[in-house]
Amino acid sequence: MGQSLMPTYARQPVTFVRGEGVWLWDTEDRRYLDAIAGIAVCGLGHAHPGVAAALCEQAKRLLHTSNLYQIEAQQQLGDRLTQLADMDRVFFGNSGAEANEAAIKLARLHAHQRGIADPAILVMESSFHGRTMATLTATGNRKTQAGFEPLVQGFVRVPYNDLEAIDRVAANRTNIVAVLVEPIQGEGGVILPASDYLTGLRARCDQHGWLLMLDEIQTGMGRTGRLFAHQHQGIRPDVMTLAKGLANGVPIGACLARGAAADVLGPGSHGSTFGGNPLACRAALAVLQALEDEALPAQAARQGAALLERLRTALGDQPGVREIRGLGLMIGIELARDCTELVGQALAQGLLINVTAGRVLRLLPPLILDDEQLALLADGLIRLIQHFLASAPPHDPE
Ligand SMILES: *Cc1c(COP(=O)(O)O)cnc(C)c1O
Repeated sequence: MGQSLMPTYARQPVTFVRGEGVWLWDTEDRRYLDAIAGIAVCGLGHAHPGVAAALCEQAKRLLHTSNLYQIEAQQQLGDRLTQLADMDRVFFGNSGAEANEAAIKLARLHAHQRGIADPAILVMESSFHGRTMATLTATGNRKTQAGFEPLVQGFVRVPYNDLEAIDRVAANRTNIVAVLVEPIQGEGGVILPASDYLTGLRARCDQHGWLLMLDEIQTGMGRTGRLFAHQHQGIRPDVMTLAKGLANGVPIGACLARGAAADVLGPGSHGSTFGGNPLACRAALAVLQALEDEALPAQAARQGAALLERLRTALGDQPGVREIRGLGLMIGIELARDCTELVGQALAQGLLINVTAGRVLRLLPPLILDDEQLALLADGLIRLIQHFLASAPPHDPE
């Protein structure tokens, strides 16, 4: 079984058949605490009643018409989302990569409309923006790109968290039109911005007339303890992309824009057959409602701080642990050596975690994580990592 699927993923040997809140059950009725939430997608947990009710109701009424017509749920979602994000307009697609594609096209069209014929977008090392040709080119990971050349033109890469590198590019080039950046790098290893980085980027974008385009696909929807991660810094982007947590598992992506950037894409310049369809938009509206009703960004802030504290107390001084970092319920535990094997070990103990960038154990649990579940997660992880460290070679070659 399974031979028919292109093996693009190295899958764990487990099949889940149902879920509830932070829990998943497999085909043997074994229960797992899900601390990855479909990679930051199911922020409300599994089988959320509000989302399920909205989906059922909409499925019985109308799944899809077309963007050739007015779509009430899409307009409602657009109004609500732009209001919450303090942005002017939004385009809906079906995934994170599509949201970033829209942002990239928007930046290029904006440049062409102002007479810049060869626009370039600043992107970061160790970034992740998706798997389509333009977004894998924007991604700062050679593994993602290898074999897919020729890549898309018009990107200039600098190290993350390095404002001086940005200044050097600004001094040497006149065709930069935008910066595309994750407020916290997710796939790159939960890399947090320096305290002055995002404000520094905002200032430079203002100074040079560049668009500040924030990829909040992983950090958005309450994950970091605010609805959007950039709100921690009090800055506003010109363009922001969302996906993952926006509809708790129903595919959707959004590209929001503000000011001049909101007036760039016009009729015929961009589109999507499925984007913003009634079903996906009803799910996202239910998510926004639940985030507000259940005060989930605040819960993520509180539980994230508590989890970080517990992990740091137990593991912070252990040799073999490089750093424990995060914001809200986006947490990375960086070890001194590759720890990919921890994923399988955690699974065997009923814990779903993820390892990214080789040696960063990443936690992205549902935002609804309660105190008891938090304790279970923390204790399980601490035991797992201590065991892993004890089994480590005494002198790490690095
Ligand atoms: C997951 C992710 C994407 C890509 O989203 P898809 O829905 O897989 O296309 C883009 N940017 C960031 C920051 C992500 O975490």
